[in-house]
Amino acid sequence: MVTLILYLSVDLPSLSSLGKAYQWIRPRCCLRCRSTRVWGHGYVARYFDGWKDPLWLKRWRCPDCRTVFTGRPDTHWRGFHSPWSVILEVLRRKVLGLTFVLELSRQRQQYWWRGFQMQCRVEGEARELQQLFAEGVIVATHSLTDRAITSAPEALHPIFAFTTRVRSP
Ligand SMILES: [Zn+2]
Repeated sequence: MVTLILYLSVDLPSLSSLGKAYQWIRPRCCLRCRSTRVWGHGYVARYFDGWKDPLWLKRWRCPDCRTVFTGRPDTHWRGFHSPWSVILEVLRRKVLGLTFVLELSRQRQQYWWRGFQMQCRVEGEARELQQLFAEGVIVATHSLTDRAITSAPEALHPIFAFTTRVRSP
């Protein structure tokens, strides 16, 4: 069984208050096989910064290729409780030789930094932060297999397109 992340526009305060009643954007078709039979497949609880309790993320399943899709706010990379904008800002500071920020745990920032050290050398020669981000790499992950922001680029539907820019220094 393949599980893919669908990065969607999600209103976290609404998701928090509505729980499973939150209206998710439903995939119109399977992003792997294009089947139009995509069914709800329950929920999974995930933690996000700013919320004490985990939030319910919706899942869908394609009965034709058996892929399970998990909806996730496009503000948060898979596996991270902090928004990617915060992570990028911390890494950008560190790249510039500045210190970690005081408001966030040092341990967490070090984890992100170590992840970036791994990601920038995955393809041999060291790569720059903005370049990796622009290419859709989860720049702080320690995973060498699940490092792409877009899980199914070959079948990306416009409404799932993840487009953004790194803020200029
Ligand atoms: Zn499918």
